Amino acid sequence: MLQWPAFPVVSRLAPTPSGFLHLGNAINFTLTWLLTRRAGGVLHLRIDDLDRARFRPAYLQNIFRTLEWLGLDYDHGPMGPDDFERHFSQRHFLPAYEAVLQAAQRAHPSVFYACRCSRTDLARLARPHGCYPGNCRHHSLPLTTPQTAWRALVPPATPVTIPDLLQGPMTSYLDTALGDFVVRKKDGAAAYQVASVVDDVRLGVTLVVRGQDLLPSTAAQLWLAHYLPGQEAFGTTRFLHHGLVLQENGQKLSKSTQAGGQRGIVEEAGSPQVVYRAVAQLLGLAPEAGRSMAGLQEVLAGG
Ligand SMILES: [Zn+2]
Repeated sequence: MLQWPAFPVVSRLAPTPSGFLHLGNAINFTLTWLLTRRAGGVLHLRIDDLDRARFRPAYLQNIFRTLEWLGLDYDHGPMGPDDFERHFSQRHFLPAYEAVLQAAQRAHPSVFYACRCSRTDLARLARPHGCYPGNCRHHSLPLTTPQTAWRALVPPATPVTIPDLLQGPMTSYLDTALGDFVVRKKDGAAAYQVASVVDDVRLGVTLVVRGQDLLPSTAAQLWLAHYLPGQEAFGTTRFLHHGLVLQENGQKLSKSTQAGGQRGIVEEAGSPQVVYRAVAQLLGLAPEAGRSMAGLQEVLAGG
């Protein structure tokens, strides 16, 4: 049962320009927009382009096109691709992420260690659930060693409590959910978990709406924020993890394995109604509510 936010909502749409956006992304945007607007909150568009290797201008363009197609507005963020590249790309914030990482390792040296494992090593070492087994924990390599990643040392049995508006408080054991995750990549750039926390704190985000597949990341970020000087406010963030839209064979939709083609939801669906219907279903509303955006808003206003 959904618990509507009863706190000042600042939220964000956080797509990645590494593929055309699929149905799951569209559902996430619509749900985030509804929750924020119903609470009279503030909505940011915060595009996560840390992974520039998979970036394509067409994917960036597709983010703006998808929002327009869905009929969703936002209060702060890039107005288009040029504005994004000039003022909002995460490349502009790399020095800020680095400053946080340096301060974190000075304040908590035992929490971070250097890992020199190659891709091949990692594939060979991975445990059945995919976690890194911590082989470099005891090598005591200096963090300044070139071509090494920084990992966070997650002790055994590390429970993280995640407040969730849909499912109530949940406990995730970070050591088995994710293990010793990377906080700084071999090229010296901050990893996703760090950038995501720093960005959300900078924007004053109070509500994060994301798919259930990101529960391990939520656990990692809540745990990590304690060790990142100046980022402690992240600990008060509220979350809503929603179900994922599955393909018929039960596999999770990702941007690289989209059902029905590679052009993204805007090209694949005739109208955004398929998105509104799925959101109505996620919120446990009557199917008629999903006929249009107006229908969704009407039910929510009365609910
Ligand atoms: Zn290693």
